Amino acid sequence: MLLGLRTVHLVPCGSQDGPIVYAGLVELHELQDLMDRTYGHSDKARGIPASVAWLTEEIGELAQALRKGDRDQQLEEFGDVLAWTASLANLAGLSLEEALSRYGAGCPRCSKMPCRCP
Ligand SMILES: [Zn+2]
Repeated sequence: MLLGLRTVHLVPCGSQDGPIVYAGLVELHELQDLMDRTYGHSDKARGIPASVAWLTEEIGELAQALRKGDRDQQLEEFGDVLAWTASLANLAGLSLEEALSRYGAGCPRCSKMPCRCP
């Protein structure tokens, strides 16, 4: 699902025998698949409540990085927040693409793009 967002497919860079290394931007279902294959086993063992706690902690770290961190720190924290969000969606059995689809035709409240909500 493209949703009008800029989307670049994952680029597998590894050999067929070795681990696949991804680079570039991803579609949301690819992000969820990547997180499932990387952390799915530990995510399932941890469960949703503990994973929510981790996501919350990462959001705090992102807030701190945006306030006083450098570019690399901000990028790292955005990555962590996205990764934990994808892991949680996997644990909940939900699609982030489906979740985001409410934004696909503009603002969910006013249906405008850009939003014209007061
Ligand atoms: Zn709006």
